[in-house]
Amino acid sequence: MSELPDWFESGRRHVWLPYTQMQTARPPLPVVSAQGTRLRLADGRELVDGISSWWACVHGYRHQHIEAAVRRQLETLPHVMLGGLAHEQAYVLAQRLSALLPGDLNHVFFSDSGSVAVEVAMKMAAQFWLNRGQRRMKFLCFRGGYHGDTFATMSVCDPDEGMHSLFKGALLEQLVVDLPRDAAGEAALGQVLARHGGDLAGIVVEPLVQGAGGMVFHDAFTLQALRRLADEHDLLLIFDEIFVGLGRLGDAMFACQIAGVQPDIVTLSKALTGGTLPLAATIASARIHDGFLSDDPMNALMHGPTYMGNALGCAAANASLDLFESEPRLEQAQAIGARLEGLLAPLRTLRGVRDVRTRGAIGVVQLDRPAPADQLSAACIERGVWLRPFRDILYTTPPLTIAEDDLAQVGAAMVEAVGAWSASLPD
Ligand SMILES: *Cc1c(COP(=O)(O)O)cnc(C)c1O
Repeated sequence: MSELPDWFESGRRHVWLPYTQMQTARPPLPVVSAQGTRLRLADGRELVDGISSWWACVHGYRHQHIEAAVRRQLETLPHVMLGGLAHEQAYVLAQRLSALLPGDLNHVFFSDSGSVAVEVAMKMAAQFWLNRGQRRMKFLCFRGGYHGDTFATMSVCDPDEGMHSLFKGALLEQLVVDLPRDAAGEAALGQVLARHGGDLAGIVVEPLVQGAGGMVFHDAFTLQALRRLADEHDLLLIFDEIFVGLGRLGDAMFACQIAGVQPDIVTLSKALTGGTLPLAATIASARIHDGFLSDDPMNALMHGPTYMGNALGCAAANASLDLFESEPRLEQAQAIGARLEGLLAPLRTLRGVRDVRTRGAIGVVQLDRPAPADQLSAACIERGVWLRPFRDILYTTPPLTIAEDDLAQVGAAMVEAVGAWSASLPD
């Protein structure tokens, strides 16, 4: 790389990067623009974005419909506080999300990031019980789970595998178990809950796919079992759909619909604005919402991020929902999954590859050891594809609008990158 832009050279020392050892990390790639599924780098190269900027950019970059909506909003009302004031985009979005989500998940609390949406869900659940005179602050959560990087959300992530194991002991103490995957697992968890259920406010789970914990899938059975157990032990069931929600799985807009399970609280973020602006939502059922109704002001939900319901973000989200209505996103997600199945198949039999799996528009290659992230990433970049391996996996979650040849390029890059690594393994 020769022509690095001035802003990059002069700003580099000052930007602290995510999940990055700043002493040894390779410099990030300066991006100057993006269009559709492609990122344009400062040196003129183009990369197909195989992970949609952390799973957010579902309609591709710079979709005209979203861009026009945000521009219109910018010229009328970019932001106004939701405390005491109202604006159209947030109210329309809340109504639309309520209509899209199943059952009576009809009460939308806006925030500005996924972690905060999960924090709010946890606070809602804990205060729901407080408002009834019960002190139930803990949560049941699962190995392999990921729910964010703030202190409360770290406490419901996998305690050992996660990037938060350093903080073990300093975090809220939660009840962490394996996901129940069959009748025996359900019965075992039932016994645990019989002992500890009284302390618990609820259950926090990523439905159908545990994302940042390693792209591990489970069946609808698991969620149906959790619903049964939640009912039996009077726990609130929280589905963190920040990764899987909004079309990623192809069969429906939300994992709760695919599983046929009605949670009490759902969290959304990432794809909510089509990857254009930060926005998140915590959506509660009527029962949860009504548990805060009272003559006592202290029974109100005590939360209110400054930028909650940001009008630009809500305008982008409404435009994104328009696209889900007018364009065949779910079919596209299904088609991506079917094609990835074929594209990644050659890796199944390679040495060092433990598993190849797809679910909706998610394609995962799991290795039998920690992934050589720099090597795999560089090999993909050489083939014009942006991917970010982590733990033991190389995965793709492309924009749902990705063209066939771009998807083929992503698949070929994964096959060649993992293939070269596998061939270099000692016997
Ligand atoms: C990304 C993610 C979060 C955290 O969202 P941020 O916007 O990064 O704070 C929470 N839960 C799940 C399932 C996620 O994938």
